[in-house]
Amino acid sequence: MNLPSQADIVVIGGGIIGCSTAYHLARDHKKSVVLLEQGKLTSGSTWHAAGLVGQLRSSASITRVLKYSVDLYKRLDQETGLATGWKMTGCLRLATNQDRWTEFKRLATTAKSFGMEMHLISPEEIKRMWPLMDVSDLVGASWLPTDGQASPSDITQSLAKGARMHGARIFEDVRVTGFEMDGNRIVKIRTDQGDIACDKVVNCAGQWARQVGAMAGINVPLQAVKHQYIVTEKIDGLAADAATIRDPDRRIYFKEEVGGLVMGGYEPNPQAWETGLPGGDVPDEWQFRLFDDDYDHFEQHMTQAIERVPALERVGVKQMINGPESFTPDGNFILGSAPECANMFVGAGFNAFGIASGGGAGWVLAQWVVDGEAPLDLWVVDIRRFSNLHRDRNWVRERTLEAYGKHYTIGFPHEEHESGRPAIVSPLYERLQKYRAVFGSKLGWERPNWYAPDDTEANDIYSMGRQNWFPVVGDEHRHVREAVGLFDQSSFAKYELTGPDALRALDWICANDVSKPVGRLTYTQLLNSRGGIEADLTVARLAEDKFYVVTGTGFRTHDFGWIADHIAAEWDARLTDVTEKFGTLSLMGPKARDVLAAVTEADVSNTGFPFGHVREIELAGCTVRALRVTYVGELGWELHIPIEATGDVFDALMAAGKPYGIRPVGYRAIESLRLEKGYRAWGSDITPNDTPFEAGLGWAVKLRKNTDFMGRRALETINGAPLTKRLAGFTVDDPEIVLLGRETILRNGEPVGYLSSGGYGYTIEKNVGYGYVRNADGVSDDFLASGDYELVVAMQRTPARIHLEPLYDAAGEKVKA
Ligand SMILES: Cc1cc2nc3c(=O)[nH]c(=O)nc-3n(C[C@H](O)[C@H](O)[C@H](O)COP(=O)(O)OP(=O)(O)OC[C@H]3O[C@@H](n4cnc5c(N)ncnc54)[C@H](O)[C@@H]3O)c2cc1C
Repeated sequence: MNLPSQADIVVIGGGIIGCSTAYHLARDHKKSVVLLEQGKLTSGSTWHAAGLVGQLRSSASITRVLKYSVDLYKRLDQETGLATGWKMTGCLRLATNQDRWTEFKRLATTAKSFGMEMHLISPEEIKRMWPLMDVSDLVGASWLPTDGQASPSDITQSLAKGARMHGARIFEDVRVTGFEMDGNRIVKIRTDQGDIACDKVVNCAGQWARQVGAMAGINVPLQAVKHQYIVTEKIDGLAADAATIRDPDRRIYFKEEVGGLVMGGYEPNPQAWETGLPGGDVPDEWQFRLFDDDYDHFEQHMTQAIERVPALERVGVKQMINGPESFTPDGNFILGSAPECANMFVGAGFNAFGIASGGGAGWVLAQWVVDGEAPLDLWVVDIRRFSNLHRDRNWVRERTLEAYGKHYTIGFPHEEHESGRPAIVSPLYERLQKYRAVFGSKLGWERPNWYAPDDTEANDIYSMGRQNWFPVVGDEHRHVREAVGLFDQSSFAKYELTGPDALRALDWICANDVSKPVGRLTYTQLLNSRGGIEADLTVARLAEDKFYVVTGTGFRTHDFGWIADHIAAEWDARLTDVTEKFGTLSLMGPKARDVLAAVTEADVSNTGFPFGHVREIELAGCTVRALRVTYVGELGWELHIPIEATGDVFDALMAAGKPYGIRPVGYRAIESLRLEKGYRAWGSDITPNDTPFEAGLGWAVKLRKNTDFMGRRALETINGAPLTKRLAGFTVDDPEIVLLGRETILRNGEPVGYLSSGGYGYTIEKNVGYGYVRNADGVSDDFLASGDYELVVAMQRTPARIHLEPLYDAAGEKVKA
């Protein structure tokens, strides 16, 4: 077969991800698809994978993606005639201590919330299921009966055959060597055997995806790491349908294979693949290749495995597999539309769960490629969660190795990464250190989470219950409610949109009406074509043709990309990222006006500077953009300060605020304050899966105006129809309960949803959570009010109360301006 000169879509890479993407593009979308593989199919990481297939993740959407994989692997052979080796053995996860047990109880609740069966079982039951195991140190195990294992190469060949059956053309031994670009658009793919003109490119090049991306100017932040497992000789007494085992406290996993065991692990001291090539590139010629066996490094797993399955001491090792796999800085894979290039999509960085993800990842990626937007909330894997920081290869390597080393460690709530810090600091960093700030990091920025009093250790001490900062954050919270606090939010992402068509562009992109007079602010969502919420931000009109947009730190690349992508080519509007130009201080609390009035001549009275307005004011010798907004439910201003003057403004506010008891306050207090106030958080409470109507944000949608905007059509079709899910607030009185999100909501004893976020409200002295209540026949006010509610928290039912209004309302503060 000759290489074609043209195709709609070219997929690069013939591993499981490329083949699954090509299969779905051809089967579901009838596209003209060409797949190019530099060696033979499966010859990258796929052929040597162990083949464990787990499904449960902390994101409902990713769990759905993994569940889809299993459904596909079960039935694919009926379509293609090629078996996938799928075996539904179930998976046991072992716990040897109480913290791990608590983690499993929370996981089992998450599973229930996501509609998956998961049980917790005793050591005796484990022994019955897996007689070869020593269970003497076990507290118990979680049991997920629908997990299993499959043959990675067989699945891939079956997917490839399916793709061909639906018309895709697959070429082996063809290497992509570059791209012909027109601006930021790929027009042709260059290969060692000729060029192919195409509309879209999908980069599924596994550990080569970073290099392939770089040829089109895009960044795919991943690091190849060596990962090893052994395959043993036959073990007497091992059942062919033995459950796969994950033993995280011993950092190892097992799976049955032809009567023996596959055993591998995630060591705390992983080895990056140091190739010696420029930039750490992975060599082109690495088809069906492995590294030398490294028993010295593997010994740590062997020791643990023999203690768990003593029979291992007496059986021979048939084979050791030591292969490279691409890992990412946060342990999640990378999907979606590359921000730097108009028509390259990525599916890479699968962190040793590419076999488990393959079927589902190809399904959603194919839809994403065709529609230009993600078909569901895939934010945790979206390539736009990264930033320029992730172009730093050393930083990526260091953080990725940390993430690999923590793959099996207990996931404590609120845990922060330690490596590669500090990466980006605000101009206040040293000042805040003097106030004993305890920092967290977000997209590389060091941000104060809380401030340790002199008698408290200035560090997070992690535990499964209340952590050491809990009472301190309570004091910070109350201080903002009762007096005044100063938050360093300099890491906020900030953009300016200027030009004669700036308003026209925002009118189209924003769901709320931004065509207000100069000096006004608009809180708005940006919607996708399904009416789902893609972003949640504030737009300030600075001039007729100039807008200032402020959004969350972590959403910098994503929101910028979303706005830029939806400005029509013929519109004269220029979007610029000005994040580093402005420091941001939020002055919040009932005394905020007194403090601000003491440092500026500007009129900051309620009539002179009402809620929902932006003004430039003179303060500490510089001009500051002051936005009268709040995310904590108190009187306050966000002050956007020329970055070099941030320190001076901080000092002036701290000095002027002394009589009012001003103090710096951290991000954990913001979370508690916003929960009480019912402000939604994008990424948890509001996502691309949720419409503003469902989220209780219908008031921020300009449906009554005769302006077309992204998502309008979708909202019109559901406007007035009964909603099948609605966001509601919940409180729990029991002080022992810890809410984190994903707890199941029971209405009259039946599951109706789960919490999207949870925490503690220090003013109301209750646990607070938000979550969508679902009912196929409609969720009316009556339906919500008439139920009796409970939450399932770590498998325990606890009474809860539902709330449809904010739990706290500061007198006189107008929220929905
Ligand atoms: C030891 C080990 C055990 C594992 N165990 C499991 C497990 O139990 N369960 C699980 O789910 N996952 C497991 N994995 C992970 C799994 O193997 C990977 O996540 C998965 O195979 C990744 O698939 P891929 O298609 O992204 O990459 P690959 O399989 O590497 O495919 C990428 C392809 O792109 C091709 N390519 C690259 N550059 C070019 C170019 N310029 N032109 C044309 N083609 C190009 C390559 O040749 C390659 O074939 C394991 C990995 C390792 C190393």
